[in-house]
Amino acid sequence: MGVLTGRTALVTGASRGIGRGIAERLGRDGARVAVHYGRNETAAKETVAAIERAGGSAFVVGVELGVPGDALALWEQFDRHADGLDILVNNAAIGNTRPIGQLEEREYEEAFAVNVKAPFFILKHGMTRLRDGGRVVNISSGLARTAVMPDNVAYAMTKGALDVFSRDLSKVLGSRGITVNSVAPGIIDTDNTAALLHGSPDGWAKAAAISALGGVGEPAEVADVVAFLVSDGGRWVTGSWVDVTGGSLT
Ligand code: NDP
Repeated sequence: MGVLTGRTALVTGASRGIGRGIAERLGRDGARVAVHYGRNETAAKETVAAIERAGGSAFVVGVELGVPGDALALWEQFDRHADGLDILVNNAAIGNTRPIGQLEEREYEEAFAVNVKAPFFILKHGMTRLRDGGRVVNISSGLARTAVMPDNVAYAMTKGALDVFSRDLSKVLGSRGITVNSVAPGIIDTDNTAALLHGSPDGWAKAAAISALGGVGEPAEVADVVAFLVSDGGRWVTGSWVDVTGGSLT
Protein backbone atom coordinates (compact mmCIF):
# COMPACT_ATOMS: atom_id res chain seq x y z
CA MET A 1 0.00 0.00 0.00
CA GLY A 2 1.38 3.38 -1.04
CA VAL A 3 0.59 6.70 0.62
CA LEU A 4 -1.69 7.62 -2.32
CA THR A 5 -3.54 4.31 -2.58
CA GLY A 6 -7.18 4.92 -3.45
CA ARG A 7 -6.52 8.35 -4.98
CA THR A 8 -6.78 9.37 -8.60
CA ALA A 9 -4.33 11.83 -10.16
CA LEU A 10 -4.21 13.67 -13.48
CA VAL A 11 -0.84 14.90 -14.73
CA THR A 12 -0.87 17.01 -17.89
CA GLY A 13 2.08 16.64 -20.25
CA ALA A 14 3.01 13.28 -18.74
CA SER A 15 4.21 11.73 -21.99
CA ARG A 16 7.72 13.11 -21.49
CA GLY A 17 10.09 14.94 -19.17
CA ILE A 18 9.06 16.29 -15.79
CA GLY A 19 5.40 15.29 -16.24
CA ARG A 20 6.41 11.70 -16.88
CA GLY A 21 8.62 11.76 -13.80
CA ILE A 22 5.72 13.05 -11.69
CA ALA A 23 3.25 10.53 -13.14
CA GLU A 24 5.60 7.62 -12.45
CA ARG A 25 6.24 8.78 -8.89
CA LEU A 26 2.53 9.25 -8.07
CA GLY A 27 1.89 5.83 -9.59
CA ARG A 28 4.56 4.27 -7.38
CA ASP A 29 2.94 5.97 -4.39
CA GLY A 30 -0.30 4.14 -5.21
CA ALA A 31 -2.37 6.71 -7.12
CA ARG A 32 -4.22 5.72 -10.26
CA VAL A 33 -2.77 8.14 -12.81
CA ALA A 34 -4.34 9.79 -15.84
CA VAL A 35 -1.35 10.31 -18.15
CA HIS A 36 -2.18 13.27 -20.37
CA TYR A 37 -0.38 13.92 -23.65
CA GLY A 38 -0.71 16.32 -26.57
CA ARG A 39 0.89 14.71 -29.65
CA ASN A 40 3.04 11.85 -28.39
CA GLU A 41 0.61 9.02 -27.83
CA THR A 42 3.39 6.43 -28.05
CA ALA A 43 5.38 8.19 -25.34
CA ALA A 44 2.27 8.50 -23.13
CA LYS A 45 1.65 4.78 -23.51
CA GLU A 46 5.26 4.17 -22.46
CA THR A 47 4.60 6.19 -19.29
CA VAL A 48 1.53 4.05 -18.59
CA ALA A 49 3.54 0.88 -19.21
CA ALA A 50 6.29 2.06 -16.85
CA ILE A 51 3.71 2.74 -14.13
CA GLU A 52 2.15 -0.68 -14.64
CA ARG A 53 5.54 -2.42 -14.61
CA ALA A 54 6.12 -0.85 -11.19
CA GLY A 55 2.81 -2.33 -9.99
CA GLY A 56 0.66 0.78 -10.47
CA SER A 57 -2.39 1.68 -12.51
CA ALA A 58 -2.73 4.34 -15.23
CA PHE A 59 -4.56 5.34 -18.39
CA VAL A 60 -3.97 7.87 -21.18
CA VAL A 61 -5.86 11.07 -21.96
CA GLY A 62 -4.86 12.67 -25.26
CA VAL A 63 -5.91 16.27 -25.89
CA GLU A 64 -4.06 19.15 -27.51
CA LEU A 65 -4.09 22.11 -25.12
CA GLY A 66 -4.18 25.75 -26.14
CA VAL A 67 -7.12 25.39 -28.52
CA PRO A 68 -10.77 26.32 -27.87
CA GLY A 69 -12.65 23.66 -25.93
CA ASP A 70 -9.44 21.90 -24.80
CA ALA A 71 -10.36 21.64 -21.10
CA LEU A 72 -13.83 20.25 -21.73
CA ALA A 73 -12.42 17.73 -24.20
CA LEU A 74 -9.85 16.64 -21.60
CA TRP A 75 -12.47 16.08 -18.89
CA GLU A 76 -14.76 14.31 -21.30
CA GLN A 77 -11.99 11.74 -21.93
CA PHE A 78 -11.04 11.57 -18.26
CA ASP A 79 -14.64 10.88 -17.22
CA ARG A 80 -14.67 7.75 -19.39
CA HIS A 81 -12.05 6.22 -17.08
CA ALA A 82 -12.57 7.70 -13.63
CA ASP A 83 -15.23 9.02 -11.31
CA GLY A 84 -13.66 12.19 -9.85
CA LEU A 85 -10.08 12.96 -8.89
CA ASP A 86 -7.92 13.86 -5.91
CA ILE A 87 -4.75 15.29 -7.45
CA LEU A 88 -4.33 17.60 -10.43
CA VAL A 89 -0.87 18.52 -11.69
CA ASN A 90 -0.84 21.19 -14.40
CA ASN A 91 2.54 20.48 -15.96
CA ALA A 92 2.12 20.70 -19.76
CA ALA A 93 3.62 23.85 -21.20
CA ILE A 94 5.46 25.41 -24.09
CA GLY A 95 8.89 25.71 -22.51
CA ASN A 96 10.54 28.36 -24.63
CA THR A 97 9.61 31.58 -26.39
CA ARG A 98 11.79 33.69 -28.67
CA PRO A 99 13.24 37.10 -27.71
CA ILE A 100 10.81 40.01 -27.73
CA GLY A 101 12.29 41.42 -30.94
CA GLN A 102 11.50 38.21 -32.83
CA LEU A 103 8.35 36.94 -31.14
CA GLU A 104 5.27 36.96 -33.35
CA GLU A 105 1.86 37.78 -31.88
CA ARG A 106 0.70 34.28 -32.73
CA GLU A 107 3.53 32.67 -30.71
CA TYR A 108 2.80 34.91 -27.72
CA GLU A 109 -0.86 33.95 -27.81
CA GLU A 110 0.00 30.26 -28.14
CA ALA A 111 2.29 30.36 -25.10
CA PHE A 112 -0.39 32.01 -22.97
CA ALA A 113 -3.08 29.67 -24.31
CA VAL A 114 -1.14 26.52 -23.37
CA ASN A 115 0.65 27.71 -20.20
CA VAL A 116 -2.03 29.91 -18.59
CA LYS A 117 -5.46 29.62 -20.20
CA ALA A 118 -5.48 25.82 -20.35
CA PRO A 119 -4.69 25.30 -16.61
CA PHE A 120 -7.28 27.96 -15.76
CA PHE A 121 -10.07 26.23 -17.66
CA ILE A 122 -8.93 22.74 -16.66
CA LEU A 123 -9.44 23.95 -13.07
CA LYS A 124 -12.67 25.76 -13.84
CA HIS A 125 -14.22 22.61 -15.27
CA GLY A 126 -12.34 20.29 -12.91
CA MET A 127 -13.34 21.86 -9.58
CA THR A 128 -16.55 19.84 -9.42
CA ARG A 129 -14.61 16.66 -10.15
CA LEU A 130 -11.90 17.40 -7.57
CA ARG A 131 -12.82 15.82 -4.25
CA ASP A 132 -12.63 17.71 -0.93
CA GLY A 133 -9.17 17.38 0.60
CA GLY A 134 -7.65 17.27 -2.88
CA ARG A 135 -4.45 18.74 -4.23
CA VAL A 136 -3.56 21.05 -7.11
CA VAL A 137 0.05 21.60 -8.19
CA ASN A 138 0.91 24.04 -10.96
CA ILE A 139 4.37 23.61 -12.46
CA SER A 140 5.90 27.07 -12.62
CA SER A 141 9.54 27.99 -13.27
CA GLY A 142 12.40 29.71 -11.51
CA LEU A 143 12.26 32.17 -14.42
CA ALA A 144 9.14 33.70 -12.86
CA ARG A 145 11.49 35.13 -10.23
CA THR A 146 14.77 35.84 -12.00
CA ALA A 147 15.78 37.68 -15.17
CA VAL A 148 18.74 35.37 -15.80
CA MET A 149 17.27 34.44 -19.23
CA PRO A 150 15.55 37.64 -20.41
CA ASP A 151 15.26 36.36 -23.99
CA ASN A 152 12.64 33.93 -22.67
CA VAL A 153 10.53 36.79 -21.29
CA ALA A 154 7.13 35.76 -22.68
CA TYR A 155 7.52 32.24 -21.25
CA ALA A 156 8.56 33.70 -17.88
CA MET A 157 5.48 35.94 -17.97
CA THR A 158 3.22 32.90 -18.43
CA LYS A 159 4.68 31.35 -15.29
CA GLY A 160 4.20 34.60 -13.36
CA ALA A 161 0.52 34.50 -14.31
CA LEU A 162 0.30 30.83 -13.29
CA ASP A 163 1.75 31.71 -9.87
CA VAL A 164 -0.95 34.33 -9.29
CA PHE A 165 -3.50 31.70 -10.25
CA SER A 166 -2.06 29.27 -7.65
CA ARG A 167 -2.07 31.96 -4.97
CA ASP A 168 -5.65 33.12 -5.46
CA LEU A 169 -7.05 29.65 -6.12
CA SER A 170 -5.70 28.50 -2.77
CA LYS A 171 -8.23 30.88 -1.18
CA VAL A 172 -11.05 29.82 -3.49
CA LEU A 173 -10.57 26.10 -2.75
CA GLY A 174 -9.22 26.30 0.81
CA SER A 175 -12.63 25.93 2.47
CA ARG A 176 -12.85 22.49 0.88
CA GLY A 177 -9.48 21.43 2.28
CA ILE A 178 -7.95 21.53 -1.21
CA THR A 179 -4.38 22.85 -1.36
CA VAL A 180 -3.00 24.72 -4.38
CA ASN A 181 0.71 25.33 -4.85
CA SER A 182 3.21 26.30 -7.51
CA VAL A 183 6.33 24.16 -7.85
CA ALA A 184 9.15 25.97 -9.64
CA PRO A 185 11.95 23.89 -11.19
CA GLY A 186 15.30 25.26 -12.25
CA ILE A 187 17.10 23.77 -15.25
CA ILE A 188 16.03 20.13 -15.61
CA ASP A 189 17.39 17.66 -18.18
CA THR A 190 14.44 17.09 -20.56
CA ASP A 191 13.72 17.39 -24.29
CA ASN A 192 12.87 21.01 -23.63
CA THR A 193 16.40 21.84 -22.46
CA ALA A 194 18.24 19.58 -24.92
CA ALA A 195 19.54 22.49 -27.03
CA LEU A 196 20.63 24.46 -23.97
CA LEU A 197 22.38 21.51 -22.31
CA HIS A 198 23.68 19.54 -25.26
CA GLY A 199 23.76 22.10 -28.11
CA SER A 200 27.26 23.34 -27.28
CA PRO A 201 30.28 21.70 -25.60
CA ASP A 202 30.02 23.88 -22.49
CA GLY A 203 26.19 23.98 -22.31
CA TRP A 204 25.87 21.55 -19.42
CA ALA A 205 28.67 23.15 -17.38
CA LYS A 206 27.24 26.65 -17.82
CA ALA A 207 23.80 25.47 -16.76
CA ALA A 208 25.19 23.59 -13.76
CA ALA A 209 27.07 26.70 -12.64
CA ILE A 210 23.76 28.56 -12.18
CA SER A 211 22.65 26.33 -9.31
CA ALA A 212 24.12 26.58 -5.82
CA LEU A 213 24.37 22.78 -5.82
CA GLY A 214 26.43 22.90 -9.02
CA GLY A 215 24.28 20.57 -11.07
CA VAL A 216 21.41 20.11 -13.50
CA GLY A 217 18.18 18.66 -12.12
CA GLU A 218 16.42 15.44 -13.14
CA PRO A 219 12.63 15.06 -13.43
CA ALA A 220 12.68 12.88 -10.30
CA GLU A 221 13.93 15.81 -8.25
CA VAL A 222 10.79 17.78 -9.12
CA ALA A 223 8.58 14.70 -8.74
CA ASP A 224 9.78 14.10 -5.19
CA VAL A 225 8.66 17.58 -4.14
CA VAL A 226 5.29 17.20 -5.87
CA ALA A 227 4.88 13.83 -4.14
CA PHE A 228 5.31 15.49 -0.76
CA LEU A 229 2.85 18.29 -1.51
CA VAL A 230 0.13 15.88 -2.64
CA SER A 231 0.67 13.52 0.30
CA ASP A 232 -1.01 13.88 3.69
CA GLY A 233 2.24 15.46 4.92
CA GLY A 234 1.61 18.44 2.64
CA ARG A 235 -1.85 19.20 4.02
CA TRP A 236 -0.89 22.53 5.65
CA VAL A 237 1.04 23.91 2.67
CA THR A 238 -1.07 26.01 0.32
CA GLY A 239 -0.71 29.16 -1.73
CA SER A 240 3.04 28.55 -1.75
CA TRP A 241 5.73 28.92 -4.36
CA VAL A 242 8.11 26.03 -3.86
CA ASP A 243 11.63 26.61 -5.15
CA VAL A 244 13.03 23.44 -6.76
CA THR A 245 15.86 25.18 -8.58
CA GLY A 246 18.78 23.66 -6.68
CA GLY A 247 19.51 27.13 -5.38
CA SER A 248 19.56 28.90 -8.74
CA LEU A 249 17.92 32.01 -7.30
CA THR A 250 20.40 32.64 -4.52
P1 NDP B 1 8.89 18.83 -22.25
O1 NDP B 1 8.96 19.77 -23.40
O2 NDP B 1 9.96 17.81 -22.08
O3 NDP B 1 7.46 18.11 -22.24
C1 NDP B 1 6.32 18.90 -22.39
C2 NDP B 1 5.10 18.07 -22.11
O4 NDP B 1 3.95 18.94 -22.23
C3 NDP B 1 4.91 16.93 -23.07
O5 NDP B 1 4.34 15.84 -22.40
C4 NDP B 1 3.93 17.51 -24.10
O6 NDP B 1 3.07 16.52 -24.65
C5 NDP B 1 3.10 18.45 -23.25
N1 NDP B 1 2.60 19.57 -24.05
C6 NDP B 1 3.30 20.63 -24.51
N2 NDP B 1 2.51 21.41 -25.26
C7 NDP B 1 1.29 20.83 -25.27
C8 NDP B 1 0.05 21.16 -25.88
N3 NDP B 1 -0.11 22.25 -26.65
N4 NDP B 1 -1.01 20.34 -25.68
C9 NDP B 1 -0.86 19.23 -24.92
N5 NDP B 1 0.27 18.86 -24.33
C10 NDP B 1 1.34 19.65 -24.51
O7 NDP B 1 8.80 19.78 -20.96
P2 NDP B 1 9.51 19.67 -19.53
O8 NDP B 1 9.29 18.33 -18.98
O9 NDP B 1 10.86 20.21 -19.63
O10 NDP B 1 8.66 20.74 -18.70
C11 NDP B 1 7.52 20.38 -17.95
C12 NDP B 1 7.07 21.57 -17.14
O11 NDP B 1 8.13 22.05 -16.32
C13 NDP B 1 6.61 22.76 -17.97
O12 NDP B 1 5.55 23.42 -17.31
C14 NDP B 1 7.83 23.66 -17.99
O13 NDP B 1 7.50 25.00 -18.22
C15 NDP B 1 8.35 23.44 -16.57
N6 NDP B 1 9.76 23.74 -16.39
C16 NDP B 1 10.73 23.02 -17.04
C17 NDP B 1 12.05 23.30 -16.83
C18 NDP B 1 13.16 22.54 -17.48
O14 NDP B 1 14.32 22.94 -17.30
N7 NDP B 1 12.88 21.47 -18.21
C19 NDP B 1 12.46 24.41 -15.94
C20 NDP B 1 11.37 25.08 -15.30
C21 NDP B 1 10.07 24.77 -15.54
P3 NDP B 1 3.32 15.82 -26.11
O15 NDP B 1 4.79 15.61 -26.25
O16 NDP B 1 2.53 14.56 -26.01
O17 NDP B 1 2.76 16.77 -27.12
